[in-house]
Amino acid sequence: MSLKLPASHINPPPADEPVVQDDSSSDDDDDQTWDDWVSDSLEKRPCKSLFEDRTFDSVQEALAFDETTHGFSLKEVSSRLALDQYQRIRLINWIRREHPTASEAKSVTGSEDFFKSDDYLKPALEDDPLLQLFLDDSSDSEDEDAPEKQEPPKDLTAAQRRISALQRKVEQAKQDLVYYRRFVSERLNLAGLADEVKNLNVSSSTTHAAVPLRDDDSHYFQSYAENDIHAVMIQDKVRTATYAKYILSNPDVFRDAIVMDVGCGTGILSLFAAKAGAKRVFAIDASDIAEKAAQIVKDNELDNIITVIRGKVEDIKLPEGYDHVDIIVSEWMGYALLYESMLDSVLSARDRFLKPEGGVMAPSQSKMMFALCEAGELYKERIGFWSDVYGFDLSAMAKDVYDEAVVDVVGSETVLSEPVVVKDLYLGDITTKQLDFTSPFTLVSTAERRTKIHAFVLYFDIFFTNTGEPVPEDTEVYIARDGDPILAEVWPLGGRPHQPRRMSTGEPLKGKGRPKVTSFSTGPASVPTHWKQTVFFLREPINAGEGTIVEGVFKLRKSNDNSRELDVEIHYRVKEPEEEAAPSEVTVQFYKVR
Ligand code: SAH
Repeated sequence: MSLKLPASHINPPPADEPVVQDDSSSDDDDDQTWDDWVSDSLEKRPCKSLFEDRTFDSVQEALAFDETTHGFSLKEVSSRLALDQYQRIRLINWIRREHPTASEAKSVTGSEDFFKSDDYLKPALEDDPLLQLFLDDSSDSEDEDAPEKQEPPKDLTAAQRRISALQRKVEQAKQDLVYYRRFVSERLNLAGLADEVKNLNVSSSTTHAAVPLRDDDSHYFQSYAENDIHAVMIQDKVRTATYAKYILSNPDVFRDAIVMDVGCGTGILSLFAAKAGAKRVFAIDASDIAEKAAQIVKDNELDNIITVIRGKVEDIKLPEGYDHVDIIVSEWMGYALLYESMLDSVLSARDRFLKPEGGVMAPSQSKMMFALCEAGELYKERIGFWSDVYGFDLSAMAKDVYDEAVVDVVGSETVLSEPVVVKDLYLGDITTKQLDFTSPFTLVSTAERRTKIHAFVLYFDIFFTNTGEPVPEDTEVYIARDGDPILAEVWPLGGRPHQPRRMSTGEPLKGKGRPKVTSFSTGPASVPTHWKQTVFFLREPINAGEGTIVEGVFKLRKSNDNSRELDVEIHYRVKEPEEEAAPSEVTVQFYKVR
C-alpha cells in the first residue's frame, strides 16, 4: 500500500464542534472554505467523486462536485456527527464500497455498524487522496487546552498503530538516507586522503614513515557541512523543542549571561540563547556549516550578540576581554550517546572556558539506560529472513549483524525488564577518562510467559537543570508522547517577557533547594528521536519467563581503530528465580558501534 503523508497543517473542523442539525447550515457552521480544509499537497491530486465514476483534478473539485450535484457535503456530515478521523475514513470507504445513494449517505446517524468496523479502515480505493486528508489529522489529539488527550476507541488501536508505524518508517527512511549519504561522502573522502598521501612527494621507501598521523576529524567535520544532517537534527522535535524549552523558559539562567555554544551547526541554540536574553554568545563550529551560521545570525539581526567562531573548540581563543563563560550549551550526543566522541570536546571546553564558580553545563547530565528487549520483529527484519530466501538458507549473511550494534526503533512493548542505569554522566565533573567504563548490571525479566529475548537495548536520557547541579536521585525523565504540546511546533520565540535575571549579582543559583529540571528520553517509550535506540543482538536468544535474572557487565570504550567509534563488550549469564537452579555459563559478546 502506498501512503503519502499529508502536510501537518491540514486542519479539519474539530471533532467536538457543536452538532449542527440543520442540513442547510453547512456553510455557516464556520467561515472556513475547502481551502482551509485541504492541504496544498492534496490540492493537486486527482480525486474520484464519492457517487459517480468521475475523476476530478483535485480533492476540492471532487468534494465540491458531490456537494453541488448530489447535495452531499462530507464536511457538513463530519461536523454534524462530530466524526473523528477514523469515523470519517470509514464513512468514505463505506460510500466507495457499498455505493449508497447520496441521500442515504447524507442521512447516516453515526450509529451504523460500519462506523465501528475495522474493515472499513481499509482503503476502498488505492491511494485515495480523500483518506490522506485524515491520516495525519492530529486536531483531535493536539488540543493543548484539552484537559486530557482523547484516547482512540479501543477497536481502532490496531489501525492507529499501523499508521504510526508506517509514519515512523517513513521518518526513519528519511534519516537513513541522510546517514547513508554521509557515510558515502566519508568513504569518498578516504579516497581523497589516499591521494594526498600519494602526493606527499616522498619516495616509496619512506612513505611508511611519512604517513601523517591518523585523522579522525576531517571526514567527521565534512559530514556536518551538509544541509541534510542539520535538517534531521532540527526536525527532531523531541530534541530541539526540549533545548528550546530549557533555554527560553529559564531567563534566570540566560539573562545577561555569556554563553558558549559548542558545535553550533546552524546556530539554532545560539539563537535561542540570544532570545532568552544572553548578553553575548560565542558560537563555535569546526565545520563549513559555521559560514552558514554566521549568515543566519546576520539574517536574524543578532550579530550584535552572537559571534560565530570557526574552529575546533579545543583550539579556538575567545576575543580580547573574555576568559570565561557562564554557560556552555551543546548538543553533542551521538548514537549510544558516546558515538562521535564529541563529549570529549565539550569537556575540554568546560575545562578551558566555563567559569569555575556557578558555571552551568547544558545539558548537565545524561544517563545511559540498558534493558532486555524481545526485539522479535527487528530480529526477523535484520536476521531471521536470511534463513529462508526462496527456499535457500542464506543465514551466513546474518553473521555480521551480531558484531555491530543496530541503530533502530524498538516498540516500548518489546522492552521486557525495567531499565538499569549503566552510566550516569554528570557533566559538571566527569572526565574523558571516565567515558571508557565497565558497569555491572542485573536485569529482571517482566515477560508474562516464556519469551525469546533477542537483544539488549541501550538508550539515553538527557537532563538540564537551572543550576547546573545533578538532578535529585528520584527525578524521572520526561517522556514525550504523540500529540505532546511541546512537539506541536517550535517554542514561541520571545513570547514571554523576560524576568530580571536573579543571577545578575553574580550570586550562583546552586545550593538553593531542588533544581528545576527539563529533560527528554531517547528510549522506546518516547516519540522516536533521530538517535533511535541501540540494539545489541544476542547470538543465542535468552528464554525468559517472569523473574528470570540476566546479570553481567557492560563495557564500553573508544575504538582503537577510530576514536569516534565505540567497542562494546557484554558479559552475561542467566539465572532462574528459583534458588536451586544453577546459573547458565557466562556468554561474552563483542560489538562495534559505528
Ligand atoms: N548545535 C547544533 C548542531 C549540533 S551537531 C544543533 O543543535 O542543531 C554537532 C556540531 O558540532 C556539528 O556541526 C559539528 O561540526 C560540531 N563539532 C563537533 N565537534 C566539534 C569541535 N571539537 N569543535 C567545534 N565544533 C565541533
